[in-house]
Amino acid sequence: MSWPADYHLHTPLCHHATGQPTEYAARAVALGFTEIGFSDHSPMPTDGFDEWRMEFSRLEDYVAGVQQAQKDHPQLTIKLALEVDFMPGQEPWIRKLATRHPWDYFIGSVHYVGSWDIDNPRKLSEWKKHDPYEVWSMYFDLLTQAAESGLFEIIGHADLPKKFGIYPDRDCTPLFERFLQAAARADVAMELNTAGLRKDCREIYPSRKIVQLARQHGVAITFGSDAHAPGEVGMNFTEALALAREAGYEETCKFASRKREMVRF
Ligand SMILES: [Zn+2]
Ligand SMILES: [Zn+2]
Repeated sequence: MSWPADYHLHTPLCHHATGQPTEYAARAVALGFTEIGFSDHSPMPTDGFDEWRMEFSRLEDYVAGVQQAQKDHPQLTIKLALEVDFMPGQEPWIRKLATRHPWDYFIGSVHYVGSWDIDNPRKLSEWKKHDPYEVWSMYFDLLTQAAESGLFEIIGHADLPKKFGIYPDRDCTPLFERFLQAAARADVAMELNTAGLRKDCREIYPSRKIVQLARQHGVAITFGSDAHAPGEVGMNFTEALALAREAGYEETCKFASRKREMVRF
């Protein structure tokens, strides 16, 4: 059996990852992967927006780094992608980014609720000032808009607000359902992201419940380690595959030039 593609890999250009793309690729080859994709944090229209993404002027360096990895590892299929922040009002910028390079896919991720990047450990104290349900509700509202926007092939780490283990005391099922219905209508895939296992929540993003609902709604899936170091490539994919299979999934997506193909895993 070969692994499904690991479609969520970062590079040092986002200032909080280590290892060059070619080192991530070497690790993937060693693990027996046949396909991976780089999806580093995309630039914002203004550099200095925050401290955890590449500057716009580094976009060409990013592409060159991925191309170097492709040259060094011809036996491995390596996709060129971005993890793009969805923020209302940023749609024209995202469309502009899309024209800059022959991307294979865009992962649409929500990190910001208003001006707060809710997964930033330096802003953990913000959680004390908010009702968790309000945050989750706003988060899934943004995720639903991201799915409907037509700007992305994949939605990243769908229940990121659980990162620090802070949960609402109300049932969030209606929020999940609304997002998943939008994803199904728009043919947007949802990723199973194993980075959650390395955080306080100790659980894949998204939860078993959301994966099961996604299956019921006919939402396709991808897999991602969200690796920020070569040693994290493909991490916990055994668990992610088990979760997907348990929910009834037998297929995952591959992307080339932003076109989707379904493949069995
Ligand atoms: Zn992310
Ligand atoms: Zn990421």
